[in-house]
Amino acid sequence: MKLPFLDLQPTYAASRAAIDAALARVAGSGWFILGRELESFERQWADYCGSAHAVGLGNGLDALHLGLRALGVGEGDEVIVPSNTYIATWLAVSQCGARPVPVEPDARTYNLDPARIEAAITPRTKAILPVHLYGQPADMDAINAIAQRRGLKVLDDCAQAHGARWRGRRVGALADVSAWSFYPGKNLGAMGDGGGLTTDDAAVADAVRVLRNYGSRIKYHNEVKGLNSRLDEMQAAVLAAKLPQLDALTDQRRAIAARLLDGLAGAPVGLPFVPEGAEPAWHLFVIRHEARDRLQAALGERGIGTLIHYPVPPHLQPAYAELGHAAGDFPVAEAIHREVLSLPLWPGMTDAQTDAVVAAVRACA
Ligand SMILES: *Cc1c(COP(=O)(O)O)cnc(C)c1O
Repeated sequence: MKLPFLDLQPTYAASRAAIDAALARVAGSGWFILGRELESFERQWADYCGSAHAVGLGNGLDALHLGLRALGVGEGDEVIVPSNTYIATWLAVSQCGARPVPVEPDARTYNLDPARIEAAITPRTKAILPVHLYGQPADMDAINAIAQRRGLKVLDDCAQAHGARWRGRRVGALADVSAWSFYPGKNLGAMGDGGGLTTDDAAVADAVRVLRNYGSRIKYHNEVKGLNSRLDEMQAAVLAAKLPQLDALTDQRRAIAARLLDGLAGAPVGLPFVPEGAEPAWHLFVIRHEARDRLQAALGERGIGTLIHYPVPPHLQPAYAELGHAAGDFPVAEAIHREVLSLPLWPGMTDAQTDAVVAAVRACA
């Protein structure tokens, strides 16, 4: 059996009529930037998340960056970030002129370990930036409690966690600001780049609306040095067309994840661990193996596509040489990057395909 790591066709099929109608509607409207489609999607996305405001942006990296700026993060500040994450989390901090301060994750959940955060706080710390990695919600109660005690802001990177819940509450309404990506491969994906943020803070939402449009509220009058980062009408319309199916597609992900967990029980690989209170969105199904590269090659020979999220931790990337970190500085993150492997998991994957993944892993691990 040949099985790709990701197939987006069944997700398109689930909303095809609505998506095709949305694309035709925008094409016929002659209006493509900052219009009714965006306003409508922003309202729907805020309501879905249980948040007061949503602001559509050009991509997830800009959402992280502009969210931090709206919270007052700037030159000389420090922001606490996970030592294991996609580099966008760190880049957003750098783009504010601030310094990313890595904190190790819990080795079982892969998320920021609240017990290690306080030791990293200095007088320059402005905010904590947890990531709901692989779609698993971070312990937001513990993180918010630390932030409150120490007078810090919290912005969470929700790029992999559309529809996830922590203690019954949806991700997207659990921090001062929540940053989203709608990149095509995310659980709610556009047909191009897209991003946004949700917040209960009207001042933050207003500031970001100005920042995303050249720092301008009134055309050709510029209050601040902004960016051009707007969720365009086509992408907003596509996302609104897909949103009604999101919960059903997340349920499919959960069922596939349950079947993988069941089938792989007792196999010689590390399996995803879901802590009490977490309802993951299962963006990725990540296993661990000491001989990860050999396992990936063997699965590839059997036609099973896999990916590594991520092969190199941010502190060892040439882009962050300036921080002076060395191999061994963040051993939990380094072991994760050495050992993790993401298996295929996408809405529409059949039981037979899921069982083929299980059989291949059992045979190769
Ligand atoms: C995808 C992703 C981003 C960046 O989103 P883009 O829309 O690609 O800019 C940021 N953080 C995490 C954890 C992601 O997975």
